[in-house]
Amino acid sequence: MKKQFAVIGLGRFGGSICKELSRLGMEVMAIDHSPEKVDEFKDIVTHAVVANSTDEAALKNLGIRNFDHVIVAIGDDIQSSILTTLMLHELGVKHITVKAQNDYHEKVLEKIGAHEIVHPERDIGIRIAHHIVSKNVLDYLELSDEYSIVELIAGEKIHGKTLIDLDIRAKYGINIMAIKRKEEINVSPQAYEKICRGDILIVIGADRDIDRFEKQLLDEG
Ligand code: ATP
Repeated sequence: MKKQFAVIGLGRFGGSICKELSRLGMEVMAIDHSPEKVDEFKDIVTHAVVANSTDEAALKNLGIRNFDHVIVAIGDDIQSSILTTLMLHELGVKHITVKAQNDYHEKVLEKIGAHEIVHPERDIGIRIAHHIVSKNVLDYLELSDEYSIVELIAGEKIHGKTLIDLDIRAKYGINIMAIKRKEEINVSPQAYEKICRGDILIVIGADRDIDRFEKQLLDEG
């Protein structure tokens, strides 16, 4: 059976989740208290409903506890976001993801039963900052305070070299998980694989080691 999702709040974030889940073939109920917003999504999702998510009776009527996953994408109105999350938890929703506006909001959400808390603006800001600071960094995913997955563009310095030539694991303690070249992606590349200028290397490791690798081998400046 298809997984059933409910998305509460159809701003840019909630709206984009609705569109992508629908594109992936999932069953999606989109909920907002603004009839105009709901109207915008009626042809995109499985059901689009006008409701105030801070109204417990309304949530019960929608059968919210039967959904596999509920996403609370209410941004500015922190009070509504908290109240909605609390009610979803009390109604026994199995998986609740909530968008947090700031660290205080996150702390409260953790205490009242959110299973997953996301900070889309903060996370995108961090990724863009890494890209701005280094022209070699295309994308950045923080795994912990010390470890990350980074997409780096291969420069002239390593053009034509194999992974054995570079001895990346021994010298830098990092791993190249995949190499993207145009539309192709080579997952777990072999040691004899040659790297070309412009390849995108997907690297996992400690931040300081990735940084060393990037400075010594990728920077063409
Ligand atoms: P984004 O940045 O994703 O556009 P935002 O941070 O500006 O979002 P808001 O505009 O505050 O977020 O809220 C997103 C949506 O949530 C809005 O369409 C708003 O109508 C809806 N919303 C807010 N409170 C409730 C509520 N209690 N019940 C249902 N929908 C709500």
